[in-house]
Amino acid sequence: MMELFKLCPKCGQEKPFTDFYKASHTKDGRGGYCKSCGALVAKKRYRSNEGARNYNLSYAKKHREHLREIAKENARNSPWIRITKTLRTSLKKHTKFKSNQKTKLVKAHFESLFPSTGVSWDNYGIVWQTKRIKPICEFDLSSAEEVVKINELSNLTIRIIPESERVPRKKSTI
Ligand SMILES: [Zn+2]
Repeated sequence: MMELFKLCPKCGQEKPFTDFYKASHTKDGRGGYCKSCGALVAKKRYRSNEGARNYNLSYAKKHREHLREIAKENARNSPWIRITKTLRTSLKKHTKFKSNQKTKLVKAHFESLFPSTGVSWDNYGIVWQTKRIKPICEFDLSSAEEVVKINELSNLTIRIIPESERVPRKKSTI
């Protein structure tokens, strides 16, 4: 029986048909590259895919940490988080009771006062600050029912800082 040969375009060698993998999609029923070239190509492809996979994984991990950092930074800088913390700590300082003030509600409460006062989160601490309508000292601090009212949203309002009290923003050195 006559042996058939086929040219491998990768290594440029004429090799017997049996040196090519069977393939259903080609005219002659054999793969384009010889077995050894095909193996090299497959290996290379696997390696590059693996590299891409590893790269994606490490990127995702890095990204996740980065996002976590951003969230932390936002929490530090968000005025409503600072306000809520202050409300909690002042209550703890002056009374034996703890406040479980919700950041979300504090934020929404002050935002509801923005339209009538013309302030925003951008100028918190510069143009306005928070204020208790009835100050802590006027509450009966021994009564739990009274203390609850100290941080009630209805007792919290916006105080526009008079111009004379405003601290000018430090100029950037950049
Ligand atoms: Zn070859």
